[in-house]
Amino acid sequence: RRAELRRLAGLPTVSKDGHRVELAANIGSVDDLQKVLENGAEGIGLFRTEFLYMGRSSLPTEEEQYQIYKHVLEKMENKPVVIRTLDIGGDKELPYMKLPVESNPFLGLRAVRLCLSRQDLFRTQLRALLRASRFGQLKIMFPMIAVVEEWMEAKRLLEEEKQRLLQEGVEVSGRIEVGMMIEVPAAALASEMFAKEADFFSIGTNDLIQYTMAADRMNETVSYLYQPCHPTILRLIRMVIQAANKEGKWVGMCGEMAGDARAIPILLGMGLYEFSMSAGFILPAREFIMQTSRTEWAAYIDSLLAMRSQTEIEQFVQAKKGSAS
Ligand code: PEP
Ligand code: MG
Repeated sequence: RRAELRRLAGLPTVSKDGHRVELAANIGSVDDLQKVLENGAEGIGLFRTEFLYMGRSSLPTEEEQYQIYKHVLEKMENKPVVIRTLDIGGDKELPYMKLPVESNPFLGLRAVRLCLSRQDLFRTQLRALLRASRFGQLKIMFPMIAVVEEWMEAKRLLEEEKQRLLQEGVEVSGRIEVGMMIEVPAAALASEMFAKEADFFSIGTNDLIQYTMAADRMNETVSYLYQPCHPTILRLIRMVIQAANKEGKWVGMCGEMAGDARAIPILLGMGLYEFSMSAGFILPAREFIMQTSRTEWAAYIDSLLAMRSQTEIEQFVQAKKGSAS
């Protein structure tokens, strides 16, 4: 069975009716790259850079970060690599940074909010990314954007560091895409506006579900509310995909939902382009997509969104999956 799947490793992901999508991998460090390559990822859809900052006693320097980003880009041989800027705060702490104690860390100073308030730290990371950009197809992504001012400020700092490097005679790629995560409901609802600004979106369902349902993603006692295929969540996702596609921008998903076999047919039907997941899920997902028809699933979307609950949606999808191919 594994050997059978392995044969799909070198193939592009195309549905039975000829629709092309991209299956990418989520990584947290360079140690994950071996599995990514073995499993035939078409790119990196999410590099969680916070792990470079954790498990040590001081901030990583620009040079240290540069070496790591360069290594990842080189290993991926010009395939797309989405590197997310630091997403610390929330449940992830840095003991050496003395962040303020907050009563609701998930609603507090995390991710891009923290980076914009600690610009020294943010600029260091941006410079390392820009310097590494010439070694592959780098895409830079900002996490937790909620309002356009955050986006504009993050872009401004990136542009400033880019100009500074160019003046210093450092080579910077001219084709870096800059995108944002859609993981705060406010950003999902404003996706038409953001789609005019960003080069791409990646939907972070882990947080999007948590914030939409007001249910802590780590809290077992409210885990019944954590429903990726709830009609409300699917509506938000469709809104984001449509907004991006209208502006000719590509949309991916890097939350756990992207690798969830129950959700993949729905996301495919909605027109999601890039699915980024743990490397181990890639080949089974490719196998499924190659044997299914995207137009068939697209035709079910309106009925799915009219349903009342995740249970009804999952039963419908299960039944259709059973009767297909
Ligand atoms: C997400 O929120 O879906 C996501 C991919 O980011 P993280 O899990 O790192 O918060
Ligand atoms: Mg997140």
